[in-house]
Amino acid sequence: MAGQTILVDLNRCVGCWSCAMACKMGNHLDVDEYRMSVRTLGSGGIDEPSGTFPDLHMSWLPVWSKKCTRCPDRQAEGDLPYCVLSCPAHALYLGDVDDPASEAGKKREELTARGFRAYELDEWEDTHANVLYLTPGK
Ligand code: SF4
Ligand code: SF4
Repeated sequence: MAGQTILVDLNRCVGCWSCAMACKMGNHLDVDEYRMSVRTLGSGGIDEPSGTFPDLHMSWLPVWSKKCTRCPDRQAEGDLPYCVLSCPAHALYLGDVDDPASEAGKKREELTARGFRAYELDEWEDTHANVLYLTPGK
């Protein structure tokens, strides 16, 4: 993958939406405007699990739309984009995932060594390119 990529450690994402809210606040977006969102992988709605109690399952997938600018002004100042900076679970990294010296590259190597699988969304629902997901699941 070329250039700046957002790496997502899905094992750490807790679906809190801090990333999406930080983007809205930092970029002064309108109430109904989003550059990213967080999908619940469950039974359909936000924070609705799949399965039957007590065997319930739920996980989350942060998704960046093509409206995401990657916060060039912040990056020019050496700052992380609002979304990456604000993740309280340390699930997000920005950098060259092919460079083992970068934080994103180190995280990719670490998770891959632990057996995580890497994948990208294939232009799914108009999503932004250069997002790499690492998951411990299949
Ligand atoms: S990189 Fe910037 S514009 Fe894109 S979702 Fe994150 S905060 Fe918003
Ligand atoms: S990526 Fe981080 S900030 Fe965004 S929903 Fe997941 S845990 Fe929360």
